[in-house]
Amino acid sequence: MVVNEVRVRFSGFGNGEDEWVNVKRAVRERSIPLEPSECHRVKVGDIVLCYRENEDHALYSDARVVEIERKLHDIKGCRCIFVVRFNYDHAEEKVELSRICCRPT
Ligand SMILES: [Zn+2]
Repeated sequence: MVVNEVRVRFSGFGNGEDEWVNVKRAVRERSIPLEPSECHRVKVGDIVLCYRENEDHALYSDARVVEIERKLHDIKGCRCIFVVRFNYDHAEEKVELSRICCRPT
């Protein structure tokens, strides 16, 4: 799935105050989406951009890779599980490669 726009909801504002952010453009400035064949480029300790969504917001946040469960790739591509810790609130989450963008080196 390709996400072009992500709705950003700021707590304290009504729905009318939501902002639409062109994530594709914003993220391209500073990061590189990964192809399934490139999953080996992600390593424990890397800082990545990770898509995250909860009731307050949906956006790409800086996160550190703390653990990787490598799986055999199948017809759908990468099946690896990446455990990331968000810089913002130190929450940990298990995500798929499709939710991760690499920062330029
Ligand atoms: Zn993989």
